[in-house]
Amino acid sequence: MSNLQNPPALNSTSHLDFWDNALGVFSRELSPQQFKTWIQPLRLLSFEESDRSLTVGAPNRFKLDWIKKTFADRFQEIASQYFGTPINVSFVLAQEASSPTTTPQTNREAESGVMLAIPDSESGISVEEQSFEIEDHSKLNPNLTFETFVTGKANQLARAASIQVAHNPGTSYNPMFLYGGVGLGKTHLIHAIGNHLLKEKPNARIRYIHAEQYVSDVVRAYQQKAFDRFKRYYHSLDLLLIDDIQFFSGKSRTQEEFFYAFEALLSNKSQVIITSDTYPKEMAGIDDRLISRFDSGLTVAIEPPELEMRVAILMKKAAGEGIAISEDVAFFVAKHLRSNVRELEGALRKILAFVRFHGRDVTIDVAKTALKDLLTIQNRQISVENIQKVVADFYSIKVADMYSKKRPANIARPRQIAMFMAKELTQKSLPEIGELFGGRDHTTVLHAVRKIADERAHDSQLNHEIHVIEQTLKA
Ligand code: ADP
Ligand code: MG
Repeated sequence: MSNLQNPPALNSTSHLDFWDNALGVFSRELSPQQFKTWIQPLRLLSFEESDRSLTVGAPNRFKLDWIKKTFADRFQEIASQYFGTPINVSFVLAQEASSPTTTPQTNREAESGVMLAIPDSESGISVEEQSFEIEDHSKLNPNLTFETFVTGKANQLARAASIQVAHNPGTSYNPMFLYGGVGLGKTHLIHAIGNHLLKEKPNARIRYIHAEQYVSDVVRAYQQKAFDRFKRYYHSLDLLLIDDIQFFSGKSRTQEEFFYAFEALLSNKSQVIITSDTYPKEMAGIDDRLISRFDSGLTVAIEPPELEMRVAILMKKAAGEGIAISEDVAFFVAKHLRSNVRELEGALRKILAFVRFHGRDVTIDVAKTALKDLLTIQNRQISVENIQKVVADFYSIKVADMYSKKRPANIARPRQIAMFMAKELTQKSLPEIGELFGGRDHTTVLHAVRKIADERAHDSQLNHEIHVIEQTLKA
């Protein structure tokens, strides 16, 4: 199985940014006293992107009730506005919510063996209220199915394996380990497996859980001395879908717990499905015996979607929203946004919001305007090396001539154009650009930038050439 060429960054931190943003809004809207009393003690416990739900923890029953009554709607509004899509915010009692840190930190403390449990008499909460909550439902998002999953070369293997496992859970490939970059459809596929099984066997005990949530559950079981229940629950499932297992990195207590769950499930012939951002052997901070278990079933990759698939996804999603977009527009968007499906969805949401707001039809120009910000971010990713290569190609000279000391006009001029474009299209400084052009002085670069900018204003031929090169770079 080939692995990904560009391993993406870990999980986005948008939910943490959101939290900062929400706190900011409340601090402006409320008096300092109110803010300190009600909002500050709250903690963001989890964010499940798959079902667009946020869970916020309150430190005690009293505050919980008050928050629900007074601030729940406002939270909902802020979250939905922030993410540009309806978000379901729920509030729970969470003892760790009163600690000064956010959940990941809390986990780390528990990982290092510090017991966080506060005696009930001290916290003023009865055992029943704070009891370790085991979800009685699967947590599956019913919209993430095989039917809504668009197939292409990049994911056909992963999809085929998933269908196979959905039909023969526990027998064909166990565990199934699905890996790939952010936003490529891993979460979607494993929900699809769960939904399929749920339809065939409504009584099957299925659980989808994000690895981060599993870590929190271990911590909570720890605090509340509820490991027996924790074990009973996880060891008795028919299908466990555990998402983004790279979050187990460095969490040895969680890994140990998971190891037992894993062994128990496999010996019961229950299916385990795991996703990760990379393939097992490449995972850091994970115990070797877990890694070898992960790799003992079927390991399958999901790759970034190719152009045609991106177009198909856009058109299908737009149609699902009740707005038809032409193939032209879909190609335009798909050509510019190449990394993953989530990004495509984000772009589509922007376009749809724009046309609904302005009452326009979806044209390429409209898409360009609606995506202005996204597209400039993409532009910034153009590298000097890339510019050198494309410019050299365009003028039929060697890339090496970009850094050579040669000065014939047929080389010097493309080189100047490349320097000019490096200044225009990247964030690099003049000295950095000079360095990348064979260690030239920054004044040489400045001269080139001025000269080409000046000529371009009068020379429509040059202007056109630069335009074409730019299009090539951005395509
Ligand atoms: P990952 O878990 O790999 O980061 P997700 O499964 O969350 O990615 O996918 C991101 C978004 O893109 C989701 O809304 C998902 O429904 C959508 N998506 C991903 N791949 C496809 C696909 N092949 N067809 C339709 N939608 C997809
Ligand atoms: Mg995911």
